[in-house]
Order: sequence, then C-alpha cells, then structure tokens
Amino acid sequence: MSEEIWERKVPPMPEDPDVVVIGSGLAGLTAAAYLAANDQRVLVLEQYDVAGGCSQTFRRKNKWQFDVGLHYIGGVKTGEIARILQGIGLHERIEFPELDPDGFDTFVFPDLEFKVPKGWDNYVGRLVETFPEEEEGLRGVTDVMRNLMDELREVGIPDSNTDLAEYVEKAPTVVSWGMRSVNELFEEHYLSERSRAVLIGQAGDYATPPSRTPVILHAGLVDHYLQEGAFYVRGGGQELAGHLVDLIHSYGGRVRTHAEVEHIATASTEDGGHRVTGVELKGGEVIDTGNVIATGDIKHLFLDLLDSEAVPEGIREQVKAYRMATPLFTVYLGLDFDITERMPATNYWLHSRYDQEAYYDPIAAGEFDTDPPVYISSASAKDPGHEGHAPEGCSTVELMTWATPDPEAWGVDESEDAPKYSRQAAYREAKDRLTEQLIDRAEDQLGEIRSHILWKEAATPMTQTRYTLSTGGSSYGIELATDQFGPLRLEYRTPIEGLVLGGVSSRRGHGIVGAMSGGVESASAVLGRNLRAEVAGGEVFGEPAILTSGGEGWDALEACRKLQVKALRA
Ligand SMILES: Cc1cc2nc3c(=O)[nH]c(=O)nc-3n(C[C@H](O)[C@H](O)[C@H](O)COP(=O)(O)OP(=O)(O)OC[C@H]3O[C@@H](n4cnc5c(N)ncnc54)[C@H](O)[C@@H]3O)c2cc1C
Repeated sequence: MSEEIWERKVPPMPEDPDVVVIGSGLAGLTAAAYLAANDQRVLVLEQYDVAGGCSQTFRRKNKWQFDVGLHYIGGVKTGEIARILQGIGLHERIEFPELDPDGFDTFVFPDLEFKVPKGWDNYVGRLVETFPEEEEGLRGVTDVMRNLMDELREVGIPDSNTDLAEYVEKAPTVVSWGMRSVNELFEEHYLSERSRAVLIGQAGDYATPPSRTPVILHAGLVDHYLQEGAFYVRGGGQELAGHLVDLIHSYGGRVRTHAEVEHIATASTEDGGHRVTGVELKGGEVIDTGNVIATGDIKHLFLDLLDSEAVPEGIREQVKAYRMATPLFTVYLGLDFDITERMPATNYWLHSRYDQEAYYDPIAAGEFDTDPPVYISSASAKDPGHEGHAPEGCSTVELMTWATPDPEAWGVDESEDAPKYSRQAAYREAKDRLTEQLIDRAEDQLGEIRSHILWKEAATPMTQTRYTLSTGGSSYGIELATDQFGPLRLEYRTPIEGLVLGGVSSRRGHGIVGAMSGGVESASAVLGRNLRAEVAGGEVFGEPAILTSGGEGWDALEACRKLQVKALRA
C-alpha cells in the first residue's frame, strides 16, 4: 500500500472524546477497540512513536524483524483470545501458526530434556513417564491444576457481586488452592526438586519465584497452552496491534503516538471524592474528558500522573508497597542460515539448575547470575515461509533471561550531569558481557552461531523503561505473587470517578491474554456492562463488514507507526 493510503487511514482527533485511553499496548488497544465498536468516541494516547507496547515488532536495515513481547500464545482457536477477537469481528483476519504440538516448550536441564506436548493427558502422561516413581504426587498436583481451571471455566473469577457461599461449593479447588504458592502444592505431594523444576519449567513466562507463585497463575499459564496448543501470530506480534488500531480508526476513534500523558486532571466531587476532568500531554496540550482508562505503569499512575489529593491514602500506600516483577534481558540476533535446520517450532528453556528458587537470589541481591537460564525463541522457526522476518535463507532468534533492575549492577551513573545511560561505558560493558554469556549458552543447544551473526543487539531493563515507562524495567507489571495477585489487586473501576485501571498490574494480569482480557474488563467498567458475557453469548460489536485491515499490501507496523505525523499529513 502506498504511503498516502496509510495516511488516509488515520482519522482526525475526535472532538471531546468520551474516553481517553493512556497506553497503546494490547490492554489499551483492546479496551479502545471495544469502546469504539460500541459507539464511543475514543482517543488512545501513546508516548512512543509506534503503537503496540510490548506486543511490538521492530525492524532493522529493512531486513530483520524482531518481536519484543509476543513469542507464543494459547486460546486462539476457541479460547479467550479467539473470543475477544471474535467479539469485534477480527478473528478471521489473523492467522496463527501452531508450534510443535509434541513439544511447544522444550526444557533442557543439566541431565534431562522434557518436551511439553499439547493436551493435559499427554502432558501428565509424559510427566509420569519421566518420573515414574513420583506418579502419585504428579497426578495429585496436576489434578489440582486441572480441576482449578475446569472450575474457573465453569464459574469464572469471583467479583463483588458473587455469592461466596455458592462459589465455595462450585469452585472448591479455586478457593482452597488458587492463592497458595506452587511450593506449598508441591510440598503437599512430596515432589522432588527435579520434578518440581520440570513442572514450572516455563516460569520465565511470569518470572516469580515458586515460593510466591500463586497456583492459579501457574495453572492458568499451563492450561492456556495445553488446551488447544501454543501458537505464534503470522507476521509477528505487531499484527494484533495493527488490526486493533485499524479497527479503532475505522470506527472514528483515534490512536495518537508521540503523546505522553503527564497529568490526569481531577476536580472535587460533592461527596468529598474526585472525578476525572481531562489529561495534559507533555508540551502542555490539554484534552478534556470525563473518562480515562490508564494502562501504563501503576506506580507512575497513582504516584506521578494524579495529584496526590485525588488519590485515597489507602491506595497510595498499597501502590507504593507493590513489588515490581523481575525484569527481562533480551538479545536479538540476525543469522545467515535457516534456523529450521537446527530447531523445530519450539521454545527452548535452557535451565542451569533444578533449584528454581535460587534463580532469584542474585536478583534480590542486585547482582547478575553467573549461570543464568536462557530462553530461545525464533520467529523464523515458528512462522516459516513468512518473508517478513529475515532475508531468504536467513533467520532471526531471540535469547532471553531475567536480570537485576539495579542500575548500580548495570554500571549506570544516575547523577544529573551523567550522560544518558545508554552511552555510559560501564553500562555498555555490562550489556555486552551478558549478551555474550547468552550466546555462549545458546550455542550449547543450537551449535556454533557466532560466526553466523549478521545482526546483534540487546535490550535491558533500562530499555524496557525507556520504551514503556515501566518502573524498574518490569515487563510484567507488579510481581505476580501470592500477596499481590487477583483480588489483592485494585479493581478496574477506581475510587476516582471516571478513572478506570487497565494493563498488566490489574486483576487479569500480564501476558497477551491477560492484557487483552483486561482490556475488555476496562471497557466494561466504562460502559457499566459485562462485555465478556455479551461476547460469550454470541454478540459481535460494530460492523465487521467495514473493517479494512489485512490482505494484500497490509503492513501492521505501518498501521501503527508515527501516527502523529500521518494524521498531520492526512
Ligand atoms: C520480552 C518479553 C517477552 C514476552 N513474551 C510473551 C509471550 O511470549 N506471550 C505472552 O502472552 N506475553 C508475553 N509477554 C508479555 C506481554 O507482551 C505483555 O504482558 C503485554 O503485551 C502487556 O500489554 P499492556 O498493554 O498491558 O502493557 P504494555 O504493552 O506495556 O503497554 C503500555 C503502553 O503504555 C504506554 N504508556 C505508559 N505510560 C504512558 C503515558 N504516561 N502516556 C502515554 N503512554 C504511556 C507505554 O509506552 C506502552 O506502550 C512478553 C513481554 C516481554 C517484554
């Protein structure tokens, strides 16, 4: 499509928006899409130049395309993501290539390899085959996880309208195990250190130590993939954002990039509370609105964007006390060979030890792990045949680990007269050191790759903060821990009238599915309806026939890039 067509696709700013959404990650875009399809005038404000938040892809030299935060998802056939997309008529427009059903995740321990197959029965069977002497314990643990998810599918997550007595009767496993730690569950069933490590081999997907990981979180993650398999998005993570942006624009809403919200204005209400009156952007522009959905960092929201008198003391203290989730470090490589010769469509989790709790000791001490675990994912392996990821015969690979957010450990001088962190020599050295360590480790699995590298760069917790304004470089919001998960998080509708919460630190949590389903909750809170239930009942909002995303010449990144400039030109 020509540049001009992309420009014409960006409508003017809606006058007096009914709702302003802060943040264009999948939480913000999903909320805005549902609102736009329900006749609301919506304006999404994004501080960065590209919409999509963590779901973005980025390109280098017009050759390489890398994913930031979508490596694999579940629930795309009939599950939660499928329902959310169906509810606004987008499901048929997006393709989802499946990862290897016999091993979408492959855990590589010092002396054991475990491939996670699709389907609960296959999974439990393989666990028992691997640890026959622990059959009883493994069946006990997986029964709890499975029952818990079956109950949730049946009765849902309780809210303030739930009859608790009835809920306890219908969802006994959710009530008895949901908010306890996976460690407690493993101990109850006398599991060995080795089988525990295999059971939580993909814990990097939420980055919480097992002593604080809620059973409901881990069961939800595993079930998300086991139910109908694990999938990638054809073309990369940006596709989801691109289709949502196009939909918002088709219904007259607007996504504006390069628009950082610096202040949420409020006024006092007669009952002594506060209500939202608008937002102020960096540069001073003021936009009036009575409704704001805030999907960015929760500390930034309650401690910086709002005036302190508008935030009830209890909430201020709760938010201040939240611990952020462990941040990630990613290496992006462009390689001169076809990676499918060396890896199937799987995610490798190269574990350096069985003691999963020990991974978090260096992080708590503000240090680097001398032998970090490494996750390997490749769009070229998951989406073969798609031309956008790398030049013909070449491949992209992402290597990931978790790392301390401590600026001192990264050699960052934070004093006022210091140069920008990314230009500081000590920081660059720390980043290079960790990059090489991850490549060394990846070579244990993939064979020699160093001499094949045509592109190499890395993203640290500081990079994450720079691109999404997250506290402590966290990609997953506040830690997904037993003492700050589910009902222990703030409700979507906040005590400030017109202010609705969204994003990774809200109740639906992180991940693509958490962000999107949280987006539906945020939109529901604004409208005072239960959109999720309406969609489950078969409702499709808007007029899917007028949607224009996808097809020949479609470029999701172009649909999301520099929307401030495109709108001015248009
Ligand atoms: C390396 C990595 C790998 C991941 N892998 C997977 C995976 O394989 N599968 C999976 O399901 N999930 C994965 N995730 C998690 C998933 O990508 C995220 O949880 C999800 O995309 C978060 O969406 P969000 O909208 O809540 O937040 P974000 O995507 O962080 O969006 C928030 C947006 O708000 C903007 N913003 C913040 N403050 C302001 C402000 N004041 N004014 C204007 N804009 C503002 C930010 O710039 C950002 O664009 C991964 C994440 C990362 C980082």
